[in-house]
Amino acid sequence: MKKVCNFSAGPSMLPQKVLVSIQSKLANWDGIGSSVMEISHRSKEFLMIVSDAEKALRTLLSIPDDYHVVYCQGGARAQFAAVPMNLLGNNTSADYIDTGFWANSAAQEAKKYCTPNIVKVLATVDGKRTVLPAKSWKLSSDAAYIHFCSNETIDGIEIRDLPETNKPIVADMSSTILSRPIDVSKYGVIYASAQKNIGIAGITLVIIHDDLLGKAKTFLPSVLNYTTLVDKKSMFNTPPTFSWYLAGEIYKWLLAQGGVEAIHMKNEKKAALLYDCVDTSNFYLNNIHETNRSLMNIPFQLTNSELESSFLVNAQAQYLVGLKGHRNVGGIRASIYNAMLLEGVQSLVDYMKTFAKDHT
Ligand SMILES: *Cc1c(COP(=O)(O)O)cnc(C)c1O
Repeated sequence: MKKVCNFSAGPSMLPQKVLVSIQSKLANWDGIGSSVMEISHRSKEFLMIVSDAEKALRTLLSIPDDYHVVYCQGGARAQFAAVPMNLLGNNTSADYIDTGFWANSAAQEAKKYCTPNIVKVLATVDGKRTVLPAKSWKLSSDAAYIHFCSNETIDGIEIRDLPETNKPIVADMSSTILSRPIDVSKYGVIYASAQKNIGIAGITLVIIHDDLLGKAKTFLPSVLNYTTLVDKKSMFNTPPTFSWYLAGEIYKWLLAQGGVEAIHMKNEKKAALLYDCVDTSNFYLNNIHETNRSLMNIPFQLTNSELESSFLVNAQAQYLVGLKGHRNVGGIRASIYNAMLLEGVQSLVDYMKTFAKDHT
């Protein structure tokens, strides 16, 4: 069987090594005579998986001791509702930095619970889309927190600077978590759904500063209440055990490769290879300014958009899959998360060059 190179935005590619390893243990995990999917989430075996996973994640991201690590369900979209309901307290407003599709979706959901101050930060410089520097963001004085999306998965826009503020910063890191080092201490809450860089769909990682607990609305469903999640160690209801287990395997795989710093260097190389291919041709186009180009999700267009479907069909025939742009924006998108190897990006670039040559 030829292994495909999967550029899907999520659920996305998993490291081959992890797949093979979990397969070998699937029916009989660690010699216990049953699979990890069949054991109680309260069994000592599963609790060990949980504590090893947390240790690995804390090492990878240098998470300070005054932050809690919990897992929730309902994806990042559930967090769009959980964040305001957990953090507003007596405030009726929060700042929502509008950088694209996902940040805007979070703001729309927040409207059910407060009056979000939607901060416009997108601009066009030299004909390219960019995000204004964080120090120029028009933040309001009565906001309970500042919400932003670190990496716009659909738009291919990444934000690397943070505003100077004493308000809690809440970040949707679904498509960038673990791709580069971050300073967790600068954030109040970090959340990320798992099916991009953490593992498979089913769980959502939430990292919360201790000061932000205890402010939840009384009507908030308990399954989304951060204080309940912390108190019950993410086991208020039965957690998706296999997704959690897999996250732990991915964390260990990252550590074995030298951690987030090492994977970041690889990610820079991969992205540079692809952006360079786009920029040095007249055939392809990415209109995001260099300062905000995403490392993980690289959208591009064909200057002759009529060739798009042929580009996708031929790519598929060469085992390069998942390249169709999001239905809202069209075009092509290559998601090159941590599990994507440099060789995979090289195959795509080789294909792009050949396709361009054959069609000019
Ligand atoms: C994928 C994604 C989401 C949505 O995640 P779900 O798990 O489907 O709710 C939200 N935000 C960002 C930045 C994403 O990449």
